[in-house]
Amino acid sequence: MVLEKAEVLEWHEDWIVRSARWETRVPAVLLLREYQKPKHTMRLSKRNIFLRDQYACQYCGTEVTDQTATLDHVLPVSKGGKTTWENSTTACKPCNYRKAAHVGKFKPKNTPYKPHFWDLAEKRKQKGYHLGHPSWATYLGIA
Ligand SMILES: [Zn+2]
Repeated sequence: MVLEKAEVLEWHEDWIVRSARWETRVPAVLLLREYQKPKHTMRLSKRNIFLRDQYACQYCGTEVTDQTATLDHVLPVSKGGKTTWENSTTACKPCNYRKAAHVGKFKPKNTPYKPHFWDLAEKRKQKGYHLGHPSWATYLGIA
């Protein structure tokens, strides 16, 4: 905003940030003056792994949340397993503990894979977006 690289299209009505000399309402929607090519590389993160697995434990099928899910290394770290898309899966806590006690006997229902950008985008759409501002619905085409 200060460098005039973006134009504010929507503001949060009730969210103001202040410094000693300056205060502003927080923008809810920005228009960047220069086109930014979207990066379609997927960050390997817990949430993206849970999203790929559609928030289902890959051992028992139980539905999980960000709070109840655990990231499970199919080949345990102690056996040389790495944190990669192909070695990471979603597990509920009970399965993660059970699996730790019976190494090698548990196989995930779906073989872990590196998802394509649009695969995760579609799963995110199915799960529903967090709308930080009501106007986002319009821009996401879900209004
Ligand atoms: Zn489970």
